[in-house]
Amino acid sequence: DKIQEERLKYLTDEKRIKAVTVLFSDLEGRLHLLDYDKKFLLSSYDNLTFDGSSIRGFTAQKESDLRLGIDWSAFYWVPADVFGSGKVLVFGSVIDKNGTPYSGDLRGVLQSYSNKLYSEQGYTLNAANEIEGFLFAGPDAERRFHETGKFEFVNTGGYYHSLPLDPLRRFIDTAAEVQRAMGFQNEKDHPEVAPSQFEINYGYGEVVAAADQIQIYKLLARQIANNMGYTASFLPKPVVGVNGSGMHTNLSVSKDSTNLMWDPNGVEKISTFGWEFVDRVLSHALDLCLILNPSVNSYRRLDPHFEAPNQIKASATDRGSMIRIPIGNSKSSRVEVRSVAPDANPYLTLYSIFKTGFEGSTLSIDGLRQAERYLPSEIYSALEDFRASEWVTKILGDDVKGRYADLKQASADRCARALGTFVKSAEVQFH
Ligand code: GLN
Ligand code: MG
Ligand code: MG
Ligand code: MG
Repeated sequence: DKIQEERLKYLTDEKRIKAVTVLFSDLEGRLHLLDYDKKFLLSSYDNLTFDGSSIRGFTAQKESDLRLGIDWSAFYWVPADVFGSGKVLVFGSVIDKNGTPYSGDLRGVLQSYSNKLYSEQGYTLNAANEIEGFLFAGPDAERRFHETGKFEFVNTGGYYHSLPLDPLRRFIDTAAEVQRAMGFQNEKDHPEVAPSQFEINYGYGEVVAAADQIQIYKLLARQIANNMGYTASFLPKPVVGVNGSGMHTNLSVSKDSTNLMWDPNGVEKISTFGWEFVDRVLSHALDLCLILNPSVNSYRRLDPHFEAPNQIKASATDRGSMIRIPIGNSKSSRVEVRSVAPDANPYLTLYSIFKTGFEGSTLSIDGLRQAERYLPSEIYSALEDFRASEWVTKILGDDVKGRYADLKQASADRCARALGTFVKSAEVQFH
């Protein structure tokens, strides 16, 4: 197609580019980087293969060869001090032997779903994520934690009031500048409520691009922190006693440039369309919890005393609710899923929330939006709900569902063993 042609011509002509970094994500959302020499890529882009058996959640040994397709529309110019010199980034899609999209590649699954809704109903799915993280002292803080049991903050500031050039601020400034250079539409950035915590907000985008941006945001934050001698961590609750990190997920749907979430006469100015979407997501909250909160650590964050939700309800004001309705207008109207953790697989998360919002069923609980229902307080309970869920089987298929549950089970068990006891409580500290 046209974009592919343009990019190939650009790569051919631009002598300063030597290699292309292709990005794809495993089932848990861990980002993988594969560099292709430019000349090789130009001659072989339609015949790339890799060994899927070493990628978590991908194929078993006996069927390990997978193909890699290039999504030329997801192409990024990159600053050399963060991504290496002479390179550009592009996202890949994983394709199985038969040439069909690989079911374990949730980016492909999300893309197909988004394309289908557009071609069948004219819907464009939009997302904007508010990704919080911590900046810790030392380039190897997560490794040292396992020896010392401690993370060291780089500042003591809080919301909005740290010094203009303190270490956290310099990190945020650098990350924001790299984002701008890569085409993010930055809006605002600030130290968050906890010491050494940050959040950088940028504009919403079409759902696949928005998920790609989450992956890039975390990657560049980690690399910039490392360059500065720090560690950027997206653990949901690295430190007890202070706020954890969320990845609030703002969602809207547009059709013919009209935001379908908006209705000036609706409850909280949200349309019937929007409320039906919310009710379906709330009804399936337990089915989806292991997707939105994928780690042992993520359950420690879900505590309303620290502005993180534990209640399955929607509210305009209460930040202990899984879904919040931010004030908006015809353009910005949206619903905000607040329970999502920053270590969730962004493709899997956005796919399952949108799929559920459109196609899920609604529980007949009186006053569903107000009902006293709670999110699980530890991962084993979420695992049980996930495995038992027919809805998850329906949207992911048995194979992907089973592989995902097994990976989560294994890490929960590893964690429990590390504590020397089989802990079925919220006492589990780290993943
Ligand atoms: N850190 C909180 C969370 O875990 C959010 C706090 C905020 O954005 N005001 O979700
Ligand atoms: Mg925010
Ligand atoms: Mg925040
Ligand atoms: Mg928010």
